[in-house]
Amino acid sequence: MTHTSSTPTHHKNERTFVIIKPDGIQRTLIGEIIGRYERIGLKLVGMKLMIPTADMVRQHYTLDAGWMQAVGEKSIKGFVDKGQIPPTTDPLAIANDILNRLEKYLTSGPVIAMVWQGAHAVKIVRKITGGTEPLTSDVGTIRGDYVLDSYQMSEIDNRSIRNLVHASGTVKEAEDEIKHWFKDEELVDYSIISDEILYAPDMKDILG
Ligand code: ATP
Ligand code: MG
Repeated sequence: MTHTSSTPTHHKNERTFVIIKPDGIQRTLIGEIIGRYERIGLKLVGMKLMIPTADMVRQHYTLDAGWMQAVGEKSIKGFVDKGQIPPTTDPLAIANDILNRLEKYLTSGPVIAMVWQGAHAVKIVRKITGGTEPLTSDVGTIRGDYVLDSYQMSEIDNRSIRNLVHASGTVKEAEDEIKHWFKDEELVDYSIISDEILYAPDMKDILG
């Protein structure tokens, strides 16, 4: 059997980090969510069920120094794009609020932390997951198909957007988040038969 070489830089070895948030578990969507990442050809290399501490959550969202500014700006844009007035025009003030709400949201019950591996894992998982606000997430994505929340509703109720999953936004974010949630020995390096058909340069072994 031809075995493809696995150089660390090959796209097929890219890893990303995903959390099924407490609402995903309460909505009994674990299987649906995992199934979507699995069926595209990604390989699960790490998984655990836990109730995160407040510190774990706050550190997770502030691993990237630019996240506060970015999440604030994105939220303001979410209002402006719909012709609505944002609660404030200061991105960092909004971000602070969002972080406090995220702390409550993600410590409210068990979550599942996972690491998925495969070609372009970060971008593929973001595509399948969909945009942050379920109201505007594309149909066919997890956030677009299984939940119906909006910035307007989360603002009225002073809570996080409930969008079922977290997924790393960049390869660097993924590396930092994987280190934050998993020890090296909790990640499993193994072969899966479907890797052959996805990544082997030729498919000559199919016929006997
Ligand atoms: P995630 O990081 O969870 O995968 P994302 O990258 O699409 O989601 P971020 O901008 O990183 O979105 O925001 C992190 C999370 O914070 C969102 O998934 C959502 O649960 C919550 N959130 C973001 N903006 C708001 C907001 N304006 N109001 C309430 N909650 C928000
Ligand atoms: Mg994010």
